[in-house]
Amino acid sequence: CGIVGYVGSRDAVPLLLEGLHRLEYRGYDSAGVAVAGAGLRVAKTAGRVADLRRVVPADMAGTVGIAHTRWATHGEPNDRNAHPHTSGGIAIVHNGVFENSDRLRAQLLAQGVTLTSDTDSEVLAHLVARSDKATLEDAVREALSQVEGTYGVIVMDADRPGELVAARRGSPVVLGVGEHEMLVASDVSALVRFTQQVIYLDDDELATVTADGYRTSTMDARSTTKSPTSIDVAT
Ligand code: GLU
Repeated sequence: CGIVGYVGSRDAVPLLLEGLHRLEYRGYDSAGVAVAGAGLRVAKTAGRVADLRRVVPADMAGTVGIAHTRWATHGEPNDRNAHPHTSGGIAIVHNGVFENSDRLRAQLLAQGVTLTSDTDSEVLAHLVARSDKATLEDAVREALSQVEGTYGVIVMDADRPGELVAARRGSPVVLGVGEHEMLVASDVSALVRFTQQVIYLDDDELATVTADGYRTSTMDARSTTKSPTSIDVAT
């Protein structure tokens, strides 16, 4: 139901939890967070953001991370089905529905992949992890070319911890441009405390964000040019 991402130099965990808190008004059944620092750390649970705060280990830290509030469509609301979903060093959060997930799950199972949730979303983590593309952006583009349905996604790779890749089709994604830090979210309300400079992705657009910038392109890898607009929202 809601996604948030952060890449910069501050500890991502409190920022991401604050972002999730700001998305709570939209409703959800589970929440989770992943950060990349020394490896990948994930904490997730059925329940509220307050419940997530209780299961986040005190030493869970990193300067890049992603977080999710889930409104279950495929798989019951439980700890295992909460996002982020992972495969190796890849972690993903997904809003929306992958309509062809049954077929993709069957293909992955046939390839010997172990699926750990009942969600439609988990396939994306495995598809990205199994891509042999050189960049995370191209791996995400290749993985998304295999899914049908709607998505707002953020993908992180613990082996490439300086960047996040976000993409949208039918589910909103907005980038927040800060001072040597960038945020990504499904809703500006998760960003306004940190920055008023935002960029809305269009459908079928991807973004690679780092602490110092962003690059946007289409699903077929043509660059797009976007400048930030200023939002004026009472916080
Ligand atoms: N379809 C996904 C799931 O059930 C994502 C739901 C959402 O948008 O929160 O896990």
